[in-house]
This record gives sequence, structure tokens and C-alpha cells, in this order.
Amino acid sequence: MTPDNVDKFVDYVVSAVRRIRGMEMSRGIEKYKSAWKHVADKGFADLNPFMECRYNERCRSYDCQMLVTSVAVKRCLECVKLWRPVFNASKIREDERTLSKFKGNAYCNSPEIKRRVA
Ligand SMILES: [Zn+2]
Repeated sequence: MTPDNVDKFVDYVVSAVRRIRGMEMSRGIEKYKSAWKHVADKGFADLNPFMECRYNERCRSYDCQMLVTSVAVKRCLECVKLWRPVFNASKIREDERTLSKFKGNAYCNSPEIKRRVA
């Protein structure tokens, strides 16, 4: 390595570090924890194994990009895609929990009616 190359290399490393420092961690999905296991084909529970101080447990896509370019973009595109399946799984679980045998059929929505008939 020549002195010119060393300067270019250092400049390159400094610009890379600056760029990474300007990025944020993808937030993943921190809500609906009970539904995370129901989307195991698309995502996993990141239990923060390295005790990172910027986040705690959350669900991430298997293809999570981990870093996003700005604070305004909170989740990477892959975790954005995962949000709907997690949300839907949480609603199914919530419906299962809240359906009471004392609730009249007239007050049930269509998924509840289907569950009663089945
Ligand atoms: Zn992500």
C-alpha cells in the first residue's frame, strides 16, 4: 500500500462509518407479541441476544435489513411486509379469547359465527 492508497482507504473507511452512524435499527414489530409465533414462517422473535441498548424484544422478518437510512423510516421494507400477517394473527387470537358463550348470535361478527357453527 502506498501513502496515496492509505489516504484513500482511510477516507473510504471514514465515509462508511459516517454513513452507518447516520442509520437507525429497523424497529421490526414490537407489538402483538402473542402473535409472533404464528408467523414463524415469515419472521422470528429477535430477543436482543447482544443486549443492544437501542431496542428490546421484537419480531423481525427473516430478510430484515437491520439498518434503515433515517429516523423517519422506522422499519425496513421486509419488516413492513411482516406487519400485516402479525396483525392478522393477533386479531385471530384476540377473537378466540374474547368470544363468550353468553354473547348472542346477533352480536357476533362473521368469523365468530363461523367458529360457533364449526
Ligand atoms: Zn427489518
